[in-house]
Amino acid sequence: MGTIIVTGVPGVGKTTVVERAAEELGLEVVVYGTEMLEVAKKRGLVDHRDEMRHLDTETQREIQTAAAESIAAKGRVIVDTHGFIQTPEGYLPGIPKWVAERIEPETVVLVEADPEAIAARRADDETRERDEEAADEIDEHQGFNRHAASAVATLTGATVAVVENADGQVDEAVADFVNTVE
Ligand code: ATP
Ligand code: MG
Repeated sequence: MGTIIVTGVPGVGKTTVVERAAEELGLEVVVYGTEMLEVAKKRGLVDHRDEMRHLDTETQREIQTAAAESIAAKGRVIVDTHGFIQTPEGYLPGIPKWVAERIEPETVVLVEADPEAIAARRADDETRERDEEAADEIDEHQGFNRHAASAVATLTGATVAVVENADGQVDEAVADFVNTVE
């Protein structure tokens, strides 16, 4: 039984769903961004996680690889991450080949929701410094995340599943997630 990778656009509710599902499954959640932040802090590059995506892509790739190695050493965990990250240079893959091959996931779970609902969740979330994005851009981003999941599956043999996290339906999303992974 291998690692489970969870992706979805920022604000879709990955962390919300995964933390509860992990408790039911008795698995540890590793937030990829937090692993990367630890690496970046040690190198004196950033202080906060929302500064990470503003680093140049070359630096992000180096930090990403170091984080993949520490995650791979943890055994079967749930990895909370992103299929693609928006940068000024375009969509940066969250799980490029060298990360996919180090983690060797068993399953990639895509958490998805209605783009309008996601835009509203971002606006309401005061715990984070989030970029504003129109619903049509969120829709495009979710499309790219499906392509990312397909690519990871093709590289590693992992299965791909979609979990819908509809507005006010976290319980259903958690149940769906647990069923998919069990
Ligand atoms: P990021 O990739 O930036 O870490 P995320 O996908 O982990 O984002 P969360 O932080 O889990 O997103 O959730 C974003 C916001 O959406 C939070 O305020 C959360 O309470 C809210 N939220 C999550 N799921 C739902 C839902 N089903 N209905 C309504 N609000 C939700
Ligand atoms: Mg999160």
